[in-house]
Amino acid sequence: LWCCLNTPAKSEYMKYKDPEQPIPVRIQDLLDRMTLEEKIGQMTQIDIRVASAEVTKKYFIGSILSGGGHLPAPQASAEDWINMINDFQRGCLSTRLGIPMIYGIDSVHGNSNVYKATIFPHNIGLGATRDPELVRKIGAATALETRATGIPYAFAPCIAVCRDPRWGRCYESYSEDPQIVQDMTEIIPGLQGDIPTNSPKGVPFVAGKKNVVACAKHYVGDGGTTKGINENNTVIDWQGLLNIHMPAYYTSIMKGVSTVMVSYSSWNGIKMHSNHELITGFLKNTLGFKGFVITDWEGIDRITTPAHANYSYSIQAGIHAGIDMVMVPYYYKEFIDGLTFHVKNNIIPMSRIDDAVTRILRVKFVMGLFENPLADYSLVDELGSQEHRELAREAVRKSLVLLKNGQSVDQPLLPLPKKTSKILVAGSHADNLGYQCGGWTIEWQGFSGNNRTVGTTILAAIKNTVDSSTDVVYKENPDTEFVKSNDFSYAIVVVGEHPYAETDGDSLDLTIADPGPTTIRNVCGAMKCIVILITGRPVVIQPYVASIDGLVAAWLPGTEGQGVADVLFGDYGFTGKLPRTWFKTVDQLPMNVGDPHYDPLFPFGFGLTTEPNRSLSYDIPFLTFSSFFN
Ligand code: BGC
Repeated sequence: LWCCLNTPAKSEYMKYKDPEQPIPVRIQDLLDRMTLEEKIGQMTQIDIRVASAEVTKKYFIGSILSGGGHLPAPQASAEDWINMINDFQRGCLSTRLGIPMIYGIDSVHGNSNVYKATIFPHNIGLGATRDPELVRKIGAATALETRATGIPYAFAPCIAVCRDPRWGRCYESYSEDPQIVQDMTEIIPGLQGDIPTNSPKGVPFVAGKKNVVACAKHYVGDGGTTKGINENNTVIDWQGLLNIHMPAYYTSIMKGVSTVMVSYSSWNGIKMHSNHELITGFLKNTLGFKGFVITDWEGIDRITTPAHANYSYSIQAGIHAGIDMVMVPYYYKEFIDGLTFHVKNNIIPMSRIDDAVTRILRVKFVMGLFENPLADYSLVDELGSQEHRELAREAVRKSLVLLKNGQSVDQPLLPLPKKTSKILVAGSHADNLGYQCGGWTIEWQGFSGNNRTVGTTILAAIKNTVDSSTDVVYKENPDTEFVKSNDFSYAIVVVGEHPYAETDGDSLDLTIADPGPTTIRNVCGAMKCIVILITGRPVVIQPYVASIDGLVAAWLPGTEGQGVADVLFGDYGFTGKLPRTWFKTVDQLPMNVGDPHYDPLFPFGFGLTTEPNRSLSYDIPFLTFSSFFN
């Protein structure tokens, strides 16, 4: 009898393991079985760099992330990722209760840190498409490519409403206009699957193995900081916060977003990571959000200045505010000990811990993680598939904003003829895949050059598109003499910003990277030229506009540079509209549509159009003439 009272029968029925049981029943059953240690483990997210099967097992780790997209190895294959993640997962599955961990990554424009993945335009370009249905499809493709590597959780979308382009994350924002950002939350049903119409409000939804858990970030007001300084203070009244920064959160919650990431920024001086009123009060209680709230990377550490100055206080303040999962990401022992202390000393009530764990388990049950904790190889071919590349190419085409077309309306320069004798392609960004992808690609800060992943540069795309008789001459930074001494029909100059992410991208001058301005001057001063800007935001262009004959904002288009050539050469028309106001001078900033004294170079919503002209594979007379007469 003694033995049998103490050892549960091998076949003990555990409700939480039974997919036939309703999710609330499964959660309660599991929660009732969990020790404090196991509960706090669920709330702990650690980085790949400190993760192992031993660690996940020993500390009952609830989640792991690839911070900044950190890779298991350069050019790791989908299979490498799956093997690594499954190994971590086996650690979790071998614990007493076998609760699976959830692995997350910054799939912010495709599965963007992974070699060979399709890289879609960054959000600013998607904002220019004004096409939520396209964005929904991009979400679905991103989900497939993320799952292809065994990863079920994407830290996307960023639904920041960037109100100042000096912010280094401006390109992660769809628009300065809250309505466009709200419309683009269509990416959420793309990522997670369409929420059933009868789904109760606020309850997270993930359709299945081909979808991922999404994360609306960064709650809230991240795009409104003073002078666009990253992680800084957003000074705005309650009504302003509600009207500008909050609407996309209501919509995301209605669409079943499963997680929300808190912003490093402060609202009127209070760090968002310690803001009980906005996290528990507004997000959870008023808006009825039932998924889990996650911190940003070392988010609670940064509650104090300097960061990590009083970690014990930060843990208390963050968990009290309503944070459910902590992206620790390195000092997990310190975090676990600190939180355990607070609970044991009744500083943080067990009810708060249970709320956090309930929310985390809810997402894990909803997404089917208990039934399918280990990834298989069935989706590996989705990574960088032809279908997704076609979708990205379509997105690039629709994202291009034509700002100037010829020196007068009756002499449009675009679309360009495919057949002409000789053209010049110039500029630092013409043949650089890394530059055209921007930050959050392969590396956190992006990369330079063409060897780090697979895609088509704009130069390669132009060569693919023109007639075989057209001579394409590429010179990165030609001098005036070179430009004049050759008999070019026209020039295409591709310049812009170098890749950056987060604070490293904050800029007060917003200039085109050197030698871009020189290239524009040398080429456009000497001949007919089209300038293509590869940029995450409006940049200083006013001084050059008069000398430029055709001007295109191509944003950060990603790997499918072919989409740029498709439109330049008239296979498709220009349709994109500015998702932001284009300033004349930086001292006008911040300047957003609707502001008094609105005096932009190009207003919000501006964008010239061209008709697609599929028969343009011969010389257009006026172009040939004008280049002869120059
Ligand atoms: C960024 C987040 C990102 C996280 C994880 C942070 O630095 O602010 O947007 O999801 O890192 O990589």
